[in-house]
Amino acid sequence: MVSICGRFRRANCSHRVASKPHVGVLALQGDVEEHIAALERAGAKARAVKTRAVLDACDALVIPGGESTTVMKLLDRFALADPLRERVGAGMPLWGTCMGMIVTARAVAGLDQPTLGLLDVTVRRNAFGRQNDSAEVDLAIPVLGAEPFPAIFIRAPWIESAGPEVEVLASFGGHGVMVRQGRVLGTSFHPELTADPRVHRYFLGMLAP
Ligand code: GLN
Repeated sequence: MVSICGRFRRANCSHRVASKPHVGVLALQGDVEEHIAALERAGAKARAVKTRAVLDACDALVIPGGESTTVMKLLDRFALADPLRERVGAGMPLWGTCMGMIVTARAVAGLDQPTLGLLDVTVRRNAFGRQNDSAEVDLAIPVLGAEPFPAIFIRAPWIESAGPEVEVLASFGGHGVMVRQGRVLGTSFHPELTADPRVHRYFLGMLAP
């Protein structure tokens, strides 16, 4: 991560160690610790985010897996939804994994479910069916190199449709499962549950100016 050293200081964070970006993991519900550990392994300083003050001190945010209706309610209750929209609107990188991608999406297929609307996609929840609640798949992700990625899907959503600015970085079963729009990344699967650091590194690469 040498190339991104020292570019992440915000005016209110002059105490930071210049060499590491500060990445928050939304900690209202879900697999927070796994993401924190994976981000640290990939070269970031990672911390749990439950308040606006901590969000303000982060250079980027991950929304982990969990339960999307619960987390959307908690984002409102903790008054984090609007600050999050503002930060991402101002260019802060955001990555949603599984539930996090659902919460980040513009819409949820077949459901009148509120979302943050930061990624121009319609997602389908629990899309791979009950028989396939959980699976590990060797997934081709060309932006990460030739080696397939061990993608773990747990009651995962897929991308039902995407707007013109959305790049589909990986597909499985004919549907997008990793997408990017500018500095917003979404994955249907859980890179934090594997030892392969490439998606976390790819996300940290999105912090470069
Ligand atoms: N099925 C969950 C939802 O729809 C997401 C599952 C996950 O994040 N692993 O909210």
